[in-house]
Amino acid sequence: MDFKIELEDEFEDIVGKAESGLGKKVTSLELNVVCKELNLNLKALKKIKDKKYFPEEYNFNSDDDLKVERIQVKFYEGFVNSYLLIKDNKCVVIDTCGDADSVIEKIESLRLKPEFILLTHGHNDHTGGLGVIEDFYKIRVNKKEEIKFQNCKMIRISVPGHTNDSVAFCVDKFLFVGDLIFAGSLGSGSFSYKKLLESFKKILSLNKDYFIFPGHGPSTTIEQERENNAFNNS
Ligand SMILES: [Zn+2]
Repeated sequence: MDFKIELEDEFEDIVGKAESGLGKKVTSLELNVVCKELNLNLKALKKIKDKKYFPEEYNFNSDDDLKVERIQVKFYEGFVNSYLLIKDNKCVVIDTCGDADSVIEKIESLRLKPEFILLTHGHNDHTGGLGVIEDFYKIRVNKKEEIKFQNCKMIRISVPGHTNDSVAFCVDKFLFVGDLIFAGSLGSGSFSYKKLLESFKKILSLNKDYFIFPGHGPSTTIEQERENNAFNNS
């Protein structure tokens, strides 16, 4: 990873997402009240409020043949991530982050040959630039249930909530979650907050400590999110 990036969501963002998800307003911004009324994790939310949660930066590419590169680009007020999953000189493009040039530049600088594109969901901060990349490399979005990249099997996991048809992609020890999970927080439950929480639980219950690559903000791990995600209240 090239540089440290900030958490996508601060205390106020998390409160706002839970409020709109539950369709109510908190009676006070006092931490105990917020967590009780919005069913959030007190310890985790306190740490985020105190700006003490920074997911550890692991070297998840160490001596491995399957690698991940993050491409982070500015999109309006914030930043959005897309990723390259790399094996030898081949790669898969995961989301196109609204900026075809940045994606192409990264692929060219690493001298990779992209095989196909995967999309976590259809919002245009993640899919913008898609047509340009498709045309430039003559590749398409892979919509198959069974995804094969080199000798690796990728699993498509349905994670509705942020959108109805949001998906996550799991391969080896990596999990690409789009706008389902952000370090310490979740994407917005713009399709269904209830389903978003269910999808989040489903991911947390996976019995392996995957590296999580979100659509916004820093990468994290399942273990770290079990402990530090404000929405994990189980
Ligand atoms: Zn989105």
